[in-house]
Amino acid sequence: MQGKVTMPEAQSTEAPYSPGVWEIAFVQDCNLRCSYCCTGFGRFGRRATFMQPEVWRRLTDRMLEMSGKQRDIHLSLATGETFLHFDEAMGFLDHLRGLSTGQIDVEIITNGTVATSEQLRTCLEKKISLCFSIDGPASRHDAFRKSSDRKPTQRIAMRNWRRYRAMVDAVANGTTCQVYSVIAGEGRLRDVARFWRKRGVMRFKAIPAEPNRHLGRVELSEWETRRARYLEDLEALAFSEAKRLRGRKLAEEAAAPLGILSSWRRLNDASPYRSCGAGYSTIGVDADGTLYPCQGFFGYAERSIGDIPSGVDAAKLAEFRSARTRAEAGCSACWARFLCDGGCCAADPNAGVVIDAWKQCEFFKAHAEIAIQSHQSWCGYGTCAARPREGVTG
Ligand code: SF4
Ligand code: SF4
Repeated sequence: MQGKVTMPEAQSTEAPYSPGVWEIAFVQDCNLRCSYCCTGFGRFGRRATFMQPEVWRRLTDRMLEMSGKQRDIHLSLATGETFLHFDEAMGFLDHLRGLSTGQIDVEIITNGTVATSEQLRTCLEKKISLCFSIDGPASRHDAFRKSSDRKPTQRIAMRNWRRYRAMVDAVANGTTCQVYSVIAGEGRLRDVARFWRKRGVMRFKAIPAEPNRHLGRVELSEWETRRARYLEDLEALAFSEAKRLRGRKLAEEAAAPLGILSSWRRLNDASPYRSCGAGYSTIGVDADGTLYPCQGFFGYAERSIGDIPSGVDAAKLAEFRSARTRAEAGCSACWARFLCDGGCCAADPNAGVVIDAWKQCEFFKAHAEIAIQSHQSWCGYGTCAARPREGVTG
């Protein structure tokens, strides 16, 4: 729900494929062994690897051919730990920027444990936004996020996050330094929110740990319990912020996870309905150069839509788009569609292109309900730009 890049609702299966968002698994490896890792430590069930120069040079050509030389591109380097092969990743970025005349925005999601001060300075110079995966207090973070030799990692991740935040604050060149917290085990969103607020972080990405595909740990009942606790805390947080900000700007000033802020913005009519860009405005590329509709399908060869040397396979792309359209058939009648962005069709690639894996729709609807009701509570007292659309509350 949060952190997704989205596009307008009307998507034809015939639409040309000219992605502006490139999700790249430059490094398929990680130095940590988080017990809830949903990418199999960045490897997707395969050997550790990273993108070789002959692959990223051809990828650059393919990107410019598909996206247009002058087009702005958003590059997301995630799924493994990019800082393990930082120089190689920067070589790719420099090469791409050297050939493109558009703007290349870059975000790296990192566990924050291997970056050196010099590498952080390089990121700042290259205007690379960093998102640090830190799960809040050390007791919670270190219960799950351990190094391969079972050592705790929160302290070093926090140190690098503080360093980068100080660097970013000092230059104000548009680069961002964000945090991403996974709520796992007995962890609570309310504790994580308090932790970040004490450190001056008003908005952060947060998700309850998802059932684990690549490590073969799919505990549905635990996921449902985690999800229920997450929603309980989210509800308390949302109503408390709605009350605190009566008469002021809710989405702009609230201290809350980005997901609920985005829903409030939507309810304020500041941003229109969008749906996920997978296979339309978004494309995923793994370290070997295999192409996917988005990064959620990495590691599932049967979901690939081509490779860098041959380009996108039109038949496979059409097959994906048709499957997605079929999966989303029920969305047009769903009251939550204006807030859920049409779900995620990559939540369980083993099951195909599906949107309600692990009863995700229940979670989306509960999230939407909290957003609407807390927004209404705020509207009742403040200057509400627009009431929720007719029918949204179902
Ligand atoms: S840091 Fe990320 S990729 Fe690495 S093991 Fe943890 S969750 Fe997986
Ligand atoms: S909640 Fe589920 S059915 Fe409803 S719009 Fe979202 S993905 Fe579609």
